Amino acid sequence: MVQAMERVHLPVVQAQPAPHSGDPLLDPFARRIRYLRVSVTDRCNYRCTYCMPEALEHHMQFQPRAALLTFEELERIVATFARLGVRKLRLTGGEPTVRHGIVDLVRRLAGVPGIEQVVMTTNGHLLGELAAPLAAAGLRAVNVSLDTLDAERFRAITGRGDLARVLAGLDAARAAGLRVQTNAVALHGINDGELVALCEDAWRRGAVPRFIEHMPMSDGALFEPARGISAATIRRTIEGELGPLVPDEPGRDAGPARYWAVRGDRSRRVGIISAMTEHFCDDCNRLRLTATGDLHACLGHDDATSLREVVRASANDAPLVQAIAAAVSGKRAGHVFAQSPPKKHMIGIGG
Ligand code: SAM
Repeated sequence: MVQAMERVHLPVVQAQPAPHSGDPLLDPFARRIRYLRVSVTDRCNYRCTYCMPEALEHHMQFQPRAALLTFEELERIVATFARLGVRKLRLTGGEPTVRHGIVDLVRRLAGVPGIEQVVMTTNGHLLGELAAPLAAAGLRAVNVSLDTLDAERFRAITGRGDLARVLAGLDAARAAGLRVQTNAVALHGINDGELVALCEDAWRRGAVPRFIEHMPMSDGALFEPARGISAATIRRTIEGELGPLVPDEPGRDAGPARYWAVRGDRSRRVGIISAMTEHFCDDCNRLRLTATGDLHACLGHDDATSLREVVRASANDAPLVQAIAAAVSGKRAGHVFAQSPPKKHMIGIGG
């Protein structure tokens, strides 16, 4: 396991040249990219067991500050994506709220012409202080990771987490006018007895609960297949207590989750990210940018194109567009998690 975690330096390879569609964001499978996920730091204040556990911390080589994209570089890259047709940005990490100046960054990115919504995935630890300034800066929504409602279990899963603080942060986000969803990685023997409680707590707080299937990252080092709970089992469990679920609209999410609602009550919606058992690669509209500027066309594959070197080499945006088009032209049909887990770490790519 440790050996796998040590492999943090991934080859950055150039993707194949773009096809001649004339649209740099149209991939070879006719999927149009509208959504960019941006990891703003590879550091995190939590140490979740399935993502970046404490015991393996000393094997991680976190990136030095000079390696990170500056706010100016990020703004330029995002503005280029927006000119090409990206409309939605999700800031993630590591933990995005620990990046110094995050409120300023949100303000800058929310002001980029063409960007319609800036949203964030966070562990919620700092939302109590940051929710109102982030909302004022133009953030529209947060996904808050929340695997359990049991304080001791929460600490055991997150290493350093404080459940009361996260719940207060979630409430602060709602009070600041942000749309809120919760994210729980559904795991047998960990939170399988809490799926309905997690839903009901989220609904009570004005949030939409979501469940994520356990995915094999880090070369499979932290993956425990027997712990994974399938989307079908998640739905069955909820239906067993609350009655039938019917498919629901994604709303403004346009992300990977499929949404369901308790029949007859659309105020009780739940999202499921079924990356493993009911994958959604055919509808993928996303690219991922790491904090160091590597553009990944797929969560499940390791190849990436460095945009940092391109922006640092020239003030002209044409080479940047070319690099983006090349990455999009190399986007795979889908992930191959089952046969070949990616070596990259979730903490580096941001989910
Ligand atoms: N620190 C932020 C947070 O906690 O939400 C953002 C980054 S975190 C990597 C993004 C999401 O990925 C979290 O909801 C986390 O639970 C999820 N995640 C991490 N490792 C995962 C795995 N192996 N399988 C499924 N989801 C995972």
